[in-house]
Amino acid sequence: MRRVAAVASAWLVLCSVSATARAEVRVLRSASLTLDVPSSWSIKGTEDEMLLVDAKGELAIILRVVESKDLAKGLENAEAYIGKHMTGVQWNSQAKPLQIGGMEASNRDGTATYQGRPVRLGSLIVAAPQKTLLLVGVIDRAAEAAHQAELTAFIGSIQPVKHVAAPSSWTVVTPERSADAATDALFSVQYLPPRTPRLKVWADLSHNLKTEQIADALNKTFTMPRAMPIVFLECGTVNAFYTPEKHAILVCYELLEYFNGIFRPTVKTDYELGRKIGGVTMFTLMHELGHAFIGELELPATGKEEDAADQLASIILSRSNETGRESALAAAEWFSIEGRKQLATQDIAWYDEHSFNLERMFDIICILYGDNQAENAALVKQVGISDNRAARCVRDTPKLIKSWKALLKPHGRHSSPQ
Ligand SMILES: [Zn+2]
Repeated sequence: MRRVAAVASAWLVLCSVSATARAEVRVLRSASLTLDVPSSWSIKGTEDEMLLVDAKGELAIILRVVESKDLAKGLENAEAYIGKHMTGVQWNSQAKPLQIGGMEASNRDGTATYQGRPVRLGSLIVAAPQKTLLLVGVIDRAAEAAHQAELTAFIGSIQPVKHVAAPSSWTVVTPERSADAATDALFSVQYLPPRTPRLKVWADLSHNLKTEQIADALNKTFTMPRAMPIVFLECGTVNAFYTPEKHAILVCYELLEYFNGIFRPTVKTDYELGRKIGGVTMFTLMHELGHAFIGELELPATGKEEDAADQLASIILSRSNETGRESALAAAEWFSIEGRKQLATQDIAWYDEHSFNLERMFDIICILYGDNQAENAALVKQVGISDNRAARCVRDTPKLIKSWKALLKPHGRHSSPQ
């Protein structure tokens, strides 16, 4: 079989070394899209630049997430590349408008010859909720019929990430702040039953996290401009969010399931596993709370907001009881596991809005140590933070704490937050 994949692979210059994965639902976060990749296809590259190839190498698809303004150029590049490597390229003159997953799209077909064999070409542009998805596909014409159904299903699966719109079952009440808001419970916790039976176990676990106690403590400490529900729910994606449109924090059952996969190989007992999943979920919740404070209270934030959110989470957990510290450590372990995986595969998104996983791990430990040296000295040695950085942690952490206290002070219920 002439491998049409080779052409696509060469074009995909950014994808030099990366893991080959088999997966069903892929989320393209920067474009806010999801798509289902048949499990027999291989996936290379990053979320924003991905190469999909079927098991026999008869079909290859390049996916690129581009800024809308770069669209024409991106498409030109792709088509020019195909023009250079194939002979007899014939594009149909007109691009056809169509709808994919409710989004505006346009599609163009063509034919060519590659290494003496006829191939079909196709390009597709999808106006995603954020950015634009550019898709160029090459398929061996002799194998066209065999791939038609999965190709149609693949294209049909492209849709906006569901969390953008609230699920219909989600009835979060977000009243404007009333006159006697001083006594209102603005933070509350809701659990939406999952539709997918597999996720029920994580819905059950989420009830055991006692998030109500956290909401209670937040209500006693802060006053918010409006109700701020913390909602556990099935999202169709692995994540947690602060949503400024709904003024809510969402924690997906899928995220708990993902944490189970991360930690299961590291523990001996189910009890230990539960503590770690609970801990890292708590860190995530505090991180989203950081985004929520910045968004709802319109706090000034410079630097990466993701770092600011991690810092707030680490400070709160460091200043809570031993369970808080345990939660911060569970998050550090998560970042360490993911970071080592990224190093091994070199699958690193340098442009990502988050700091790198290993940096996030060190930053958590840095704050724990900066806030309490006696308790965390051994930890700093164990993870290998240099003496210089450790000294920096001791100098910088009180400044971070002071900054967050100053930012939150006007929103404290009685006195400044502890
Ligand atoms: Zn974040």
